Amino acid sequence: MPDDAPPKGHPPQAFATRMSHAGRAGTRIHGFVNPAVHRGSTVLQTSNAARREGSKRRFDQYMTYGTQGGPTHYALEDVIAEIEGGTRSLIVGTGLAAVAVPLLAYLKAGDHCLMPDSVYGPGRNLANGLLKGWGVETTFYDPCVDEAGMAALLRPNTKVVYTESPGSHTFEVQDIPAIARAAHARGAKVLMDNTWGIHHFMPFEKGVDVSIQALTKYVGGHSDVLLGSVTVNSDADWQVVRGAGSQLGQYASPDECWLALRGIRTMPVRLARQEASGIEVARWFEARPEVNQVMHPALPSHPQHALWKRDFTGACSLFGVVFRPDYTQDDVERFIDNLTLFGIGASWGGFESLATVTTGNITRTAGTGNFGGPMARIHIGLEEPADLIADLEQGLRHLRA
Ligand SMILES: *Cc1c(COP(=O)(O)O)cnc(C)c1O
Repeated sequence: MPDDAPPKGHPPQAFATRMSHAGRAGTRIHGFVNPAVHRGSTVLQTSNAARREGSKRRFDQYMTYGTQGGPTHYALEDVIAEIEGGTRSLIVGTGLAAVAVPLLAYLKAGDHCLMPDSVYGPGRNLANGLLKGWGVETTFYDPCVDEAGMAALLRPNTKVVYTESPGSHTFEVQDIPAIARAAHARGAKVLMDNTWGIHHFMPFEKGVDVSIQALTKYVGGHSDVLLGSVTVNSDADWQVVRGAGSQLGQYASPDECWLALRGIRTMPVRLARQEASGIEVARWFEARPEVNQVMHPALPSHPQHALWKRDFTGACSLFGVVFRPDYTQDDVERFIDNLTLFGIGASWGGFESLATVTTGNITRTAGTGNFGGPMARIHIGLEEPADLIADLEQGLRHLRA
């Protein structure tokens, strides 16, 4: 048992409490609170016999060589597995690597993959690029598919049902338990990008086999870390995912892991504040005459609000805004260009607010890509919401030239 773990039989503790204590096993070295950054390639063994024994345990948080991870990686792996309620987690260099590793692990030539049309763009690129070249066929499906609809999409060779909820840019909430029931009935693995849900969606309780997170977002929390995690809930899945990561030479810097562990200690406070601010700004947008629709699952107007309420315990601070159809993409760009507190740039989950035009980034194979007007994606940071709203209000005056 880690020396900081609560005693056995202790009542379950709140998220903030667990995030203060998780992943600190064996870190009371010299009395310091935090784990050290262990950098290294060679791991010296005490004897040839010890080396032989150790090589049998290389997927088992046992140090044999730098690429297999070290104490800083293991501390972060333990915290991420705890956050998502899984057994083991693999830390990889980016969120996109966390998308790629399990897809490459579970798919081979001749297999079929199902991906939601609302998938994170680079995931679509992988399916249409390397995976296609290697003989894996992907069908993009309506993210709002129900159990019968999913059953109809499954083929005898469908090995992976990929999910992401809510969807990138368009925020459709998927019925993950229904999709997982249909997929498992036909022996397909269910992969999920759970970056938006973080700890508000418990993937393994809902039928997911492999959960993906871009730790780059709220876990890093300061727009200065790139990192991803692949979490599983069985030893069989661990062997497949860890084996693929190992074959692909996937590795993350211990410095990045250390920064992610540092981010985790304040993540519960940041998330709670950003969730509340995000909902406040989303409601403000909803009341504006220039806006047609706000894509935020926590708003009662969201088409899958009931599903979000059933399956999630909260929200993060990323949402979409659809402007009236008489506005153009140029109008929305002028609005964003005139904001002073919102940065223009990719990624999200940091302490600072962002606004990006998304209209041109929406690809739809299965359904229509028309959401009724030009669109923007808003990320709400830790600034005072009243200041953000004042900035947005002056920005909207520039919507029309
Ligand atoms: C950002 C993001 C990723 C990829 O994370 P990187 O660390 O930037 O590679 C994956 N999935 C979703 C939903 C994301 O928003």
